[in-house]
Amino acid sequence: MADVARGGERARIRVKGVVQGVGFRPFVYLLAHRHGLAGWVLNDARGVLIEAAGEPAALAAFTAGLRREAPAAARVDSVTTLERAPADAPDRTFEIRQSAEGGSVTTLISPDLAICDACLEELFDPRDRRYGYPYINCTHCGPRYSIIEGLPYDRPKTTMAAWPLCEHCARQYDDPANRRFHAQPVACPRCGPGYALLDAGGSPVDAPDAIGEAARLLARGAIVAVKGIGGYHLACDARNAASVQALRLRKVRKEKPFALMANDLATARSALRVSPAEAELLLSPARPIVLLERAETDLPAALAPGNADLGLMLSYAPLHHLLFAAGAPTLLVMTSANRAAEPIAYRDEAALRDLAGLADAFLVGQRGIARRVDDSVAVVLDGRPTLLRRARGYAPASVVDDPRFAGATAHDDDPPILALGAGMKNAFTLAVAGHAFVSQHLGDLDQLEARLAFEQTVHDLCAMYGVDPARAYVVADLHPDYGSSRLARALGGPALRVQHHRAHIASVLAERRAWEAVVVGVAFDGAGLGEDGTVWGGEAFAGSLTGGLACVAHLRPAPLPGGDGAARRPAQAAVGFLWEQPDGVAWRDLLPPETVALAGRLIETGARTPQTTSVGRLFDTAAALLGFDRAMTFEGQAAMFLEALARADGAAGAPEDGYPLPFERGAWDHRPLLAALVADVRRKVDAPTCARRFHAGVAHGVVLGAAHLAREVGTRTVVLSGGVWQNRLLHASAVAGLRALGLEVWWNHAVPPGDGGVSLGQAALAAASRSIREELDHVPRHPL
Ligand SMILES: [Zn+2]
Ligand SMILES: [Zn+2]
Ligand SMILES: [Zn+2]
Repeated sequence: MADVARGGERARIRVKGVVQGVGFRPFVYLLAHRHGLAGWVLNDARGVLIEAAGEPAALAAFTAGLRREAPAAARVDSVTTLERAPADAPDRTFEIRQSAEGGSVTTLISPDLAICDACLEELFDPRDRRYGYPYINCTHCGPRYSIIEGLPYDRPKTTMAAWPLCEHCARQYDDPANRRFHAQPVACPRCGPGYALLDAGGSPVDAPDAIGEAARLLARGAIVAVKGIGGYHLACDARNAASVQALRLRKVRKEKPFALMANDLATARSALRVSPAEAELLLSPARPIVLLERAETDLPAALAPGNADLGLMLSYAPLHHLLFAAGAPTLLVMTSANRAAEPIAYRDEAALRDLAGLADAFLVGQRGIARRVDDSVAVVLDGRPTLLRRARGYAPASVVDDPRFAGATAHDDDPPILALGAGMKNAFTLAVAGHAFVSQHLGDLDQLEARLAFEQTVHDLCAMYGVDPARAYVVADLHPDYGSSRLARALGGPALRVQHHRAHIASVLAERRAWEAVVVGVAFDGAGLGEDGTVWGGEAFAGSLTGGLACVAHLRPAPLPGGDGAARRPAQAAVGFLWEQPDGVAWRDLLPPETVALAGRLIETGARTPQTTSVGRLFDTAAALLGFDRAMTFEGQAAMFLEALARADGAAGAPEDGYPLPFERGAWDHRPLLAALVADVRRKVDAPTCARRFHAGVAHGVVLGAAHLAREVGTRTVVLSGGVWQNRLLHASAVAGLRALGLEVWWNHAVPPGDGGVSLGQAALAAASRSIREELDHVPRHPL
């Protein structure tokens, strides 16, 4: 090891970001060796702490390299030199030290990561001992969260415990200079788990090459259940219409889009339009499903009926690469294996039982999955990613690091925050020790399986961070009947209840750590319980996280015949909204007569008919008038239908003048908007044109209202959140209109604009309402 020359310097350096469980310490170790530095590196509760000593020039180059050369899976947010002093005692070695205990968080759990380039190369190198091995991984890649059964994160507490390391793997595991140093899931064909192929009945298939045989079955049109990282997928040839149709029938999934998987960008580009920003997202270590516009027109319609986009991901597990290399069709359907709307199957026994009759064969890996983690879903809006479903590859990493999330179990006056989120598309947030950890997507909590997974995950994540949920500051939605609200009560809480749409707006501010910024927030959403007991979903808020967000405007209310039931029946919601039309507007004959009669009776008697300001239901109304008059088979379907109409090829000509959506006295009035739509439908204007005029009208209404409110409040910043903003056309139009007026527009990126983002907003409002704390960059003097 290099001698520290006279006149050398010693520096203590703090690195923050995603720097644990991603091979960062071995990287620092090698970097320090390269620059001839002495010292040490360790993980602690705040990230990575380094002490390095050597020539000033070498120290500077080392410090710069920490950011520039970091492993692909790492995200370096900051590199700060905490102390700098002349080096006295000439240390001669650089070492990786044991993690320091600090605060209540001692381990940061990394998400599951896609196979890295180095492992991929070995996977297809016939001379490598892990050639063709489906469980190859290293510190830069592979499973983490999905295999952890307890803490500390060490092999005996993962689902790899059953496979003792062979001598070769152990040597790599123990060598700080090796890419597999302390890679807990490390394995090879000699010592690790493997894959087997089972037939439709669950009996082993006599095939020496299980993966190759599965690939052949897929090429012949079969449906194969494939065990992946966070659960099972059902796979079939995406270009084989008969296979896709068979999958729909067997899965009882009539219309909800199927996700696709391709092995490389070129294949993805042959079927879908991929911008540079979308390509970057597809190739990121999280490998999310990315919503992309179709390019190929002869893809089977059954992949995503009535949808403008298709969701596609690139292979992320070594197994996927092996399947494609063995001759599986280049474009596969890879949809979560479940029946209808149940959560993804992840345990072998349950998968074999529940998927009986769905799959023609099962490709089953021996490595256990400790917890269900779905594929993440993302979209690129205005050149930047926005997550629509945050799960594999992202959870349970911290989404916001901020001293306001400093809760620690040690201080009773400053407990961690446990924000339990909404009822649908649930994800919850645990804020502790300066981090806001958002759980993986857990689904709709009115389903028993999802509710059990939710409760399990709450206890799980709390245990990982040493938090007793019963002593946390529990935050829940106003709605008392959500599964999340029920758990809050069971925990003796909630300490705070947050209105759903206020939480949506707060989620955007939380992501940006904009605690003081005064904004106008437009929450356009499906439904949430409002402060006046009605069903909200078209609100504007003004203020800040610390000063409070006041509700300052609404969509004009309309009756919602059948309440929650109307959320699945666009025509029923339409009757409610059109009921508000003046007598001269004839609309009844445009909707199914039995629905008009039934919903009309509900409205007249007031039975099961709350008032609503939901923009989601306003979109459903337009969809019903333009032909979507049946029941929806999945949430948001009618709005997607409407968006797809508006974005239909050939229809996208000159921008349409929108229908009028005036904003007066704190309310958007939908009556002129719908009257104009009804008139166009009567005039037999084609549906795509109507849909475009409707989108343009709503976007323009948002611009008018938000600009007016921004002037009143004295801000230049507008925030958009809520499920309606997943609509790419509406989003782009509103953002363009607001910017044209010189306003700055913020929306969600790290958490979904839909209900998966609600818990972060709840946590932020809770944190903002507690005492303001100073950040003390606690540097342990004796880190050991
Ligand atoms: Zn790797
Ligand atoms: Zn081995
Ligand atoms: Zn919502």
